[in-house]
Amino acid sequence: MPLFGRKNADGGLTLAEVQAAELADEVKMVDDVRRQMSPGEHLEFAGPTRCPNCGMLGFVESVNRTKGNCFNFCYTCRNRWVITSRAVKISLTRDVDMPEPAPPSLLGNPWSMDGFIELEDNLSLEMTPALEAMTISRMDEPAKPSASQTV
Ligand SMILES: [Zn+2]
Repeated sequence: MPLFGRKNADGGLTLAEVQAAELADEVKMVDDVRRQMSPGEHLEFAGPTRCPNCGMLGFVESVNRTKGNCFNFCYTCRNRWVITSRAVKISLTRDVDMPEPAPPSLLGNPWSMDGFIELEDNLSLEMTPALEAMTISRMDEPAKPSASQTV
């Protein structure tokens, strides 16, 4: 991003860094709201959302569809929070409720136990650096988006 990659004159955060941090905060808020939701509840921008603090259904105070902001208020604990449409879109691409499931490829990993591969004739093959690198790269695989998101 050459346009936003330059540091500011004062050496502070770039515009891109500030915007990324803002977006991360917005997504975290949506994630917090989603953790309060029951299974089967849907999160929609500008719709009522659960209070991220106490889990009661919040009251939508105002919606700005141009800016993509939705301001919410909780009558139970007097909490206020803002839902942004871009953060909803990002949050809904993944699952926040469940602990990350292990990717199936990892469960079938034959050398996950102690670094040795059990061969049929009971010989063991010591881990070579190449094998090790392969194993590590498999473990670093990002978890796939959960299919339950489509429900
Ligand atoms: Zn509340």
